[in-house]
Amino acid sequence: MSFDQLGLSKPLLRAISEKGYTEPTPIQLKAIPEVLKGRDVLASAQTGTGKTAGFVLPMLHLLTQEPPQRKRNIRALILTPTRELAAQILENAVEYGKHLDVRSMVIFGGVNQNPQVRALRNGVDILIATPGRLLDLHQQGELSLRNVEFFVLDEADRMLDMGFARDINRIMDLVPKQRQNLLFSATFSKEIKRLANGILNNPVAVEATPENTTAEKVDQRVYRVDKGLKTAVTIKLIKEENWSQALIFTRTKHGANKLCEKLEKAGIRSAAIHGNKSQNHRTKTLEGFKAGKIQILVATDIAARGLDIPLLPNVMNFELPNVPEDYVHRIGRTGRAGASGEAVSLVDIDEVPYLRSIEKLLGESMPGEVIVGFEPTNTPTKNIDKKKKNFRRPGADSNDRRKPKPRSNKSTRRY
Ligand code: AMP
Repeated sequence: MSFDQLGLSKPLLRAISEKGYTEPTPIQLKAIPEVLKGRDVLASAQTGTGKTAGFVLPMLHLLTQEPPQRKRNIRALILTPTRELAAQILENAVEYGKHLDVRSMVIFGGVNQNPQVRALRNGVDILIATPGRLLDLHQQGELSLRNVEFFVLDEADRMLDMGFARDINRIMDLVPKQRQNLLFSATFSKEIKRLANGILNNPVAVEATPENTTAEKVDQRVYRVDKGLKTAVTIKLIKEENWSQALIFTRTKHGANKLCEKLEKAGIRSAAIHGNKSQNHRTKTLEGFKAGKIQILVATDIAARGLDIPLLPNVMNFELPNVPEDYVHRIGRTGRAGASGEAVSLVDIDEVPYLRSIEKLLGESMPGEVIVGFEPTNTPTKNIDKKKKNFRRPGADSNDRRKPKPRSNKSTRRY
C-alpha cells in the first residue's frame, strides 16, 4: 500500500516523497484514513513507529480544505509532555506542510515567552504546546482556544506520569465541545483509559504494536553485574562492540553526569541530557548527537522522552527503570521505522525485582547473562554499605570494595 491510496492531498504527497518516505508505516496505514473520515482515534503507538506523521498528515489535510481566513485562529492544538517532543512535532509539521499555506508554532516553558507571544499575535493555525506554558499564556490573555477543531494528546501516559492530569482537565474546559480528538499512548493503564473516556467521542482504536509489548525488531540483552562494575562494563561494550551511537539511560540526573564524565575520561565522546540542563543546552546536545559529533548520549527518562533520533542502533539501560512501562519507552528508541536495534540492560542484584516486573509486563522472560571477568557477587548494595560501616579496617579507603578485577575477555555465558 502506498501513500497515494490514503486520500491525502497532492501537496502533502509531494512533501512525503521529498522526505524520502516510500510507504506508510502500520500506524499511519491504520490511523490516517480514520482521521480523514473525521473520527476520534485512540492510538497505541510508541515513538519510532511513525506516529507523528500518522496524525500530522491527516490533520494538515483537513485544516487546508478551505483557504485560510485573514485572521488566523488556533484550529489545531497538540499537547505534549516535553519541550523536545513539542519541538520535534513542529519540525515535522513544517516539513510535511511546506507546500501548504498553514502556520504552525510551538510554545513551551523554560525560555523567554516574548517571542512566543509575538508569534501568537501574528496568527497561527496549529499550536503545539506543553501544558504549563499554554495555561500561562492563556491566563495572560495571549491566546484563545475557542476555535480549536482538532485536539491531539500525544504520549498521554507520560503526561499522567509527569503529573499533568489536572492541567489537561483545565485545558479541556477551554476548547469547544465539538471537536475531533486523537489520543496517543505507548501503554494503556486504567488511568489512561479513564482519561481517554473523558476526552474521546466514540473513538476507533488503532495500534501499531500490541499493547504493552516490546517492538519485535529490538534484540534485548540483559547482563547481571554488580553496581560498582557497571561503568567498566559499559566502556567495554561500547569499545569492543564498536557502538557507533548509543543512548544510555540512568535513573538520576546525578548518575547521568557521573557516567558521562567517566566515559569522557575513557576517551568516548559523550554528553548528558536531563532536566537540570537549560533548553539551549539540550537542543545543542541533541543537534550534536544527530550530527554524529557525540557518540554516547546519557539521559534520564524524562529528558529522553520524545527524542527523535532515527535509526539509533543501541540503547542501554545503565539502570533499569522502576516503572516497567518506562522500559518499553526506553527501548522504543531503537529499532525505529524499519531498522533493527539492540537494547542492553545492566542489572544488579537490587534491580532484580524491577527486571521481574518488566518480564511480567512484557509476558516474556529475559534471562540474564554474565560477562566473564565481571561476574556478579550478588551482594545487595545495602549489605555492602552496612559491612563497610561495621567492619572498616583502620585507614582503609571508603571506596575500597573487594571487586574482582575486570579481565578483558569478550565471551559470555548464560546466567
Ligand atoms: P515517530 O514515531 O513519529 O517519532 O517517527 C520516527 C521516525 O520515523 C522519524 O524519524 C520519522 O521521520 C520516520 N518516519 C515516519 N514515517 C515514516 C515512513 N512512512 N517511512 C520512513 N520513515 C518514516
